[in-house]
Amino acid sequence: MSYVKALKCRECGREYPKDPLYVCEYCFGPLEVVYDYEKIKKKLTRETIESRPKNLWRYKELLPLDGEPTDGLNSGFTPLVRARNLEKALGVKELYIKDDSVCHPTLSFKDRVVSVALSKAKEFGFNTVACASTGNLANSVAAQSAVAGLKRYIFIPADLELGKVVGTLIYNPILVAVEGNYDQVNRLCSEIATKYKWAFVNINIRPYYAEGSKTYGYEIAEQFGWKAPKHIIVPCAGGSLITKIYKGLKEFKNLGLIDKPETKIYAAQATGCSPIVTAIKENAEIIKPVKPNTIAKSLAIGNPADGVYALATVKETGGWAEDVSGDEIVEAIKLLAATEGIFTETAGGVTLGVAKKLIEQGKIPKDESIVVSITGNGLKTQEAVVEKIGKPIKIKPNIAHFEENVKR
Ligand SMILES: *Cc1c(COP(=O)(O)O)cnc(C)c1O
Ligand SMILES: [Zn+2]
Repeated sequence: MSYVKALKCRECGREYPKDPLYVCEYCFGPLEVVYDYEKIKKKLTRETIESRPKNLWRYKELLPLDGEPTDGLNSGFTPLVRARNLEKALGVKELYIKDDSVCHPTLSFKDRVVSVALSKAKEFGFNTVACASTGNLANSVAAQSAVAGLKRYIFIPADLELGKVVGTLIYNPILVAVEGNYDQVNRLCSEIATKYKWAFVNINIRPYYAEGSKTYGYEIAEQFGWKAPKHIIVPCAGGSLITKIYKGLKEFKNLGLIDKPETKIYAAQATGCSPIVTAIKENAEIIKPVKPNTIAKSLAIGNPADGVYALATVKETGGWAEDVSGDEIVEAIKLLAATEGIFTETAGGVTLGVAKKLIEQGKIPKDESIVVSITGNGLKTQEAVVEKIGKPIKIKPNIAHFEENVKR
């Protein structure tokens, strides 16, 4: 049974049938999935959700399928970790890590969106999937489409980290490395998508794909004890995740699953690619595209598709935004590892670095609940830290040599 009513233009409100469409013919606004919340309300209670397996489909009525899910049956429901050591290090009272560095199967939050996109693409009858990716999406589409038995074309910028490339090629897709930045890859893919009948998960399937990100927000609210925390810091690339976390909290409120969220949402970007953060700091209405130059490659989108909606989310919730340098990213990655035993990729360094900065600035109060969104795994971006973590002590295999060389 489907709870999806239609697609709707986010700008002019025109409705469209639930087809593989993504842009309004009249105003070129992006399309979004609309649900029958009255019907969902009758079905979806806290108890129903809690009785279901611990994966993102426990919220399936709020996801855009007509039938049962077929992909990502083990994705999502990642830990919300109470970060006691990090609380001490930052001088705050109550801090949590929402840890998608261990999302199944490819260790980033992109497994959520891909689970939904592929399930939907199969409902539409596509046999080929594709994506334009900054790395994590490539990993997830490659892995999950292998399981689904779909043909796949994956497009990435040619300068991605080795971990992201290997983590894609291992699943044997057709991987195309484009000599250019992500924005150029994306433009090329838009052209390809109009010519070939493929399900481009983040282009023509985007309205459905993006809904998967809501589950990150649902889980925070459920795991926090069916309420919303006071502050959530979110890394932004295209600006979709931050928008959808907020949509998820509002939906939970409208369904009576949580009280009205008084959550401030904060955008985190790297200084070398911070179009969303810059717009917030300058109180601008529009996003000025930039040419990315940062070690946080998974966030390196200079012309973010959902930038204006990310902006609106931050404004509406009363949050704020910050950016951090490459050195600050590395420091934050090391801090998270040293305090909580979590090894995050550069995007996670951005988020924690920004959280630290906002706390130091007094923008986030020290005595309220804070959730830091950790969205990817550090083993994929080893280049960023390998020169900054020391080296193993090499010894000969005997005790004398051990005692001579290793301080005790
Ligand atoms: C894609 C990605 C994001 C941000 O996603 P958007 O929805 O495009 O803003 C955040 N963190 C990681 C690790 C990602 O791969
Ligand atoms: Zn429109």
